[in-house]
Amino acid sequence: MENILTERDRLLLARRFRVKEPQNYPGLTERIEKGAVPVRILHDYDETPPGGQKAGHKPHIRCCFGHPHWHGFVAEFEGGRIGLLGGRCARRDFGEAVIDAIEGDFNAERDRQFEIQRLLAIRKVLPAALTELRNLDVRNFDIVWQTLTHRFGEASRMLAKGVRSSQGRLIAYRKELDRRATEAAAERAQPNLFRSTGRAAVAAQRKYLDAHPVYKDVPVDMGPCDGWRLLIVSERSTPARLVAEAFDILSKADDDKPIERWGRTDFARLRRSIEDAFAKLDEAAGLVADLLRLASPANQERIAAWARECKHEFEIRLPEGYGWPATPALDALRSASATGEKAQVAAGKQP
Ligand SMILES: [Zn+2]
Repeated sequence: MENILTERDRLLLARRFRVKEPQNYPGLTERIEKGAVPVRILHDYDETPPGGQKAGHKPHIRCCFGHPHWHGFVAEFEGGRIGLLGGRCARRDFGEAVIDAIEGDFNAERDRQFEIQRLLAIRKVLPAALTELRNLDVRNFDIVWQTLTHRFGEASRMLAKGVRSSQGRLIAYRKELDRRATEAAAERAQPNLFRSTGRAAVAAQRKYLDAHPVYKDVPVDMGPCDGWRLLIVSERSTPARLVAEAFDILSKADDDKPIERWGRTDFARLRRSIEDAFAKLDEAAGLVADLLRLASPANQERIAAWARECKHEFEIRLPEGYGWPATPALDALRSASATGEKAQVAAGKQP
């Protein structure tokens, strides 16, 4: 990876964008005459005291025209003088277009600093993260699943069908005599018998009904099934597949181009790749968490009761200590990729 910085980017990295106590800035010209043109923003500041105006404070910083404010910019003027611009009054004092242009440049430079800081932080940890990801062993999930469907295929199919239609309930079906259907079937089969009345006929009818019962399936709700979405295999991926996809994305995230040639779209692509890769990993970790919930003792007890009701067997056995593996290198990458974000949010938060 090419981490050599141009002189320009090196200076940019060293640059401090936010300053404190701008009224004490070295070489500051306190008052500047109307008509002077600011050409560059050097810093911004936010001197809002805790609580601001609500807490009874009054703006105490003066711009180069003497207006009070708390946040604004330290700017360089034509001819090299340095003066303060008020965050709001500057647009009125110097015109929208002038301030928009120099503020745009200032923000672009600060963004680039954030992006380069993040890129350097990412490059520091990416190789280890890739190695960790390549060696991440999540195969136990598939092994558990294959064993399960191999041993309890019919039961897991029934279980999946039930939780799918009920959105997560364990539904067993109990056979109960359907009196009305039994009678209807009997009258259709033996119309003469059931037309007759009299004691002998009634006894014969009862005997016939007892011998030709019609049953119905009555659903019995046997409680919730934790982690049930896992059972619907067609609608989910597997940790091994997701980890492979994440590796593929992450291995292409940085094209090793020299930093001077990185532009906004490159930085955005890097950020997106890392987000996509972690979305895959979070999904994979979610599947492992679901399996743990599905296999928890309380949940297995409910499933076992359901299985007995359905005249089936079902039991999940997890390997000792089963869980999502520790991923220190990937965790480091995740926080490296958040490096600039926090600073950017902090800088953008101006009252
Ligand atoms: Zn002003």
